[in-house]
Amino acid sequence: MSLSQNLFTRAKQSIPGGVNSPVRAFLSVDLSPLFIQEGRGAYLIDVDGKQYIDYVLSWGPLILGHAHPLVIDAVQEQLKLGTSFGAPTVIEVALAEKVLSFFPSMQQVRFVSSGTEACMSAIRLARGFTGRNKIIKFAGCYHGHADSVLVNAGSGGLTFGVPSSQGIPLQVSQDTLVASFNDLNAVEHLFKRHADDIAAIIVEPVAGNMNLVLPQDDFLTGLRKLCDEYGALLIFDEVITGWRVSQYGAQGYYQVRPDLTVLGKIIGGGFPAAAFGGRDDIMNKLAPLGPVYQAGTLSGNPVAMTAGLATLTQLDNASLYDDLSARTQQLVNGLSQAAKDAGIPFQAQAIGAMFGFYFTSSPTIRHEDDVKACDLNRFKKFFAGMLKEGIYLAPSAFEVGFMSSAHSEQDIIDTIQKSKIVFAELS
Ligand code: PMP
Repeated sequence: MSLSQNLFTRAKQSIPGGVNSPVRAFLSVDLSPLFIQEGRGAYLIDVDGKQYIDYVLSWGPLILGHAHPLVIDAVQEQLKLGTSFGAPTVIEVALAEKVLSFFPSMQQVRFVSSGTEACMSAIRLARGFTGRNKIIKFAGCYHGHADSVLVNAGSGGLTFGVPSSQGIPLQVSQDTLVASFNDLNAVEHLFKRHADDIAAIIVEPVAGNMNLVLPQDDFLTGLRKLCDEYGALLIFDEVITGWRVSQYGAQGYYQVRPDLTVLGKIIGGGFPAAAFGGRDDIMNKLAPLGPVYQAGTLSGNPVAMTAGLATLTQLDNASLYDDLSARTQQLVNGLSQAAKDAGIPFQAQAIGAMFGFYFTSSPTIRHEDDVKACDLNRFKKFFAGMLKEGIYLAPSAFEVGFMSSAHSEQDIIDTIQKSKIVFAELS
């Protein structure tokens, strides 16, 4: 038994399922998770001393790679000054200003501690601002685990939401309407049916929780138009896509202006921080200025704000994004070629510093059903083979892959080389 396996057995005695977030348990790949000792640049080192090229990167935050020296130095300096004050600091103001400089759609931003909290708060704010109850979300999009968004209509789409978890009152989920991603007609239909009661659409502008699904041509602009027509707010959940699809997020890439934006992951530089923000007239409804309540003991935590500021300062750099995109494209091109050479039906695509791959011969991935139709068994075998070869991919066919600026061209070449071995075993 490896040390990881021993630790997993031990962890299961004290932590439900041995993990503090379900996907970490490796259940969908039928393996035992690695316990991590150290992260260094593009690499993870597990407790058994084996090194992996990491394409999970803590599920997205580490766009500069693990333990970036500038982030670590800044955090160490802050630690000497104290870890939490529950009072304003100049660091959170500097980070707020920095965030706004990347996102012209936002005039104010409020910091919280997790993406879940940020989405939940943005939705409450949208409801408070519009005086309406219902929201529209898309099947396969994830907006954290608050009751109102842990809802997915399954493959049907276009129905009242059915909770994806026990413990969610049906009354709550009935105010969440679910449509299929990339289906504007479905959204229009929902607006027509509930014209005066839809507060907001919340969407991952590039979906990263059903593998990678790109918005088709006029999907995002179409959502913008429908929201304007029916007086609803458009919320972009850029927890993944912010500073990842491009320097200016998905909204910068696609040039669509949401009313509210949710940010997370990269914004905390590897520490627990997230945020939501938008126009002055909306944000002024928040306590202490307005009637929509929202608060947090560790919100704006100075250590997390320091890590976020050190990270975002590095991201003020267009050429870094050119490199990230080029590397990510190089990876998906190489994987696609390797699969083709082995005769395995396989598609892969990238945008900015995120990528998706799918075991299917169908070239179009438009929504959750397309992803569900992929060969999950093949994914499982591919995942296990790559792990054995020292490549750490997300342990689920419904997760997206991430690139960091610490990944070198040689890391990509090595990954593609290893994939050739694994694809050959699959064919
Ligand atoms: N929104 C999106 C798009 C996410 O991907 C996630 C988490 N992966 C969340 C919200 C929730 O963030 P957190 O896990 O920090 O609560």
